[in-house]
Amino acid sequence: MTPEELREAGVRLVGLVLVDNAGIARMKCVPIDRFARACERGIGWSSVWGLSLGDDSFAHDPGLYSPSGDVRLRADPDAAVAVGCAPGWGWAPIDHHEQSGEPWAGCQRHFLRRMVSEAEAAGIELMAAWELEFSVGRDERGEFVPLHRGPGYGAATFGETGGFLLALADALQQSGISAEQVHVEYADGQMEISLPPADALRACDTSILARHVIRWVAAQQGLRASFSPRVVAGSVGNGSHIHLSVWRDGVNRFAGGGGQEGLHPDGEQFVAGMLRHLPALTALGAPTALSYERLQPSHWAGVYACWGNENREAALRLEGAGGASSATSANVEWMSVDGAANPYLVTGALIAAGLDGLAERLELAPAVSEDPADLSGADLAALGIVRLPEALEAAAEAFAASSMVRSAMGDYLHDRVAAVRRAEAATADGLDEETLVANYRWRY
Ligand code: GLU
Ligand code: MG
Repeated sequence: MTPEELREAGVRLVGLVLVDNAGIARMKCVPIDRFARACERGIGWSSVWGLSLGDDSFAHDPGLYSPSGDVRLRADPDAAVAVGCAPGWGWAPIDHHEQSGEPWAGCQRHFLRRMVSEAEAAGIELMAAWELEFSVGRDERGEFVPLHRGPGYGAATFGETGGFLLALADALQQSGISAEQVHVEYADGQMEISLPPADALRACDTSILARHVIRWVAAQQGLRASFSPRVVAGSVGNGSHIHLSVWRDGVNRFAGGGGQEGLHPDGEQFVAGMLRHLPALTALGAPTALSYERLQPSHWAGVYACWGNENREAALRLEGAGGASSATSANVEWMSVDGAANPYLVTGALIAAGLDGLAERLELAPAVSEDPADLSGADLAALGIVRLPEALEAAAEAFAASSMVRSAMGDYLHDRVAAVRRAEAATADGLDEETLVANYRWRY
């Protein structure tokens, strides 16, 4: 929406929102009469936020940390909306720019744009959709008191959850988001929304706006919503799965082809590329120490680097490839991602990995239909299936060592994300799950 359209919609204050390398959504606000200027010139922001952690401290990496340096946050009017459920409020994502006007090398949203352009140069178009799980409840003296106590997907929760779900559906609609589903999930207090497929940048923007709306709706009802990977120790975690489909010449490359499970040859290569790089990408999808409590085998969180048709234990699940509408619906869902992940980094890196598979004409391993946790070590080895990193330290090192990710992100962004992950791991060192859960619960 243009500044004029926002004003006509009654917007008086616009929240300019970015997501940092630790996955924290941060916001500065401008009155509506400053919004046009915020789109053109931007507003000031210290470049040190490229090193911020989930607890608001900073990675003090020698050579990277400096108190000097300022970038401009430019609001993107194409993605700006009036947040209908919060009258008077507007919302817009930002791009980071240098003072000179050039894109900032640390900008996550620019990184995604570049990967989309590289895909286009290879003749590929992408559609993406996010599926967000979150926990709704009250904070009573540091304890999470869930809005409902199941059963999972339980109609029996209607008395507790019906009012929230209806307010949420209305609020999303009023903010221009047409959710595909809104429902109660499996764990106590857990809910989920499925967002509509869109181009990759728009899908990521929408995933951030949707969280903004969810938090608002929860607060109006005296509740809080958490997207933290785990909200209660030992419980089922909150995933934030990304669905991606790959298109060439208007044809979905994940359906109607002659390869495995109906994939086209380039669809197979793209999936093979994603699989090859998943260990390095885990630090993006699972960015906190707490993420690794969620990443347990046999919890539908995709902890093995394999793929399978509708297999919820494979890190990459081929979804929607079976039915009559597979030509439009077939997609690959990365299951390992949680709500602490930066959507732009995840999506950009996943595209880069897929493009690497195309460039290298990688051969795709056979699809897996069972739970890989039930396979013997010998069977896993024979099928070439590896367990994804089991702790943040290992994930951070796999990420830091990846030349594919480094060349896709550029040194500046890659160095900062690696520094943030290492510092995040050091911050959490020695803390038990109870402490981690409490520390992160209301950060994401
Ligand atoms: N809660 C699971 C997770 O941690 C996902 C369950 C599902 O597939 O809906 O990702
Ligand atoms: Mg779910």
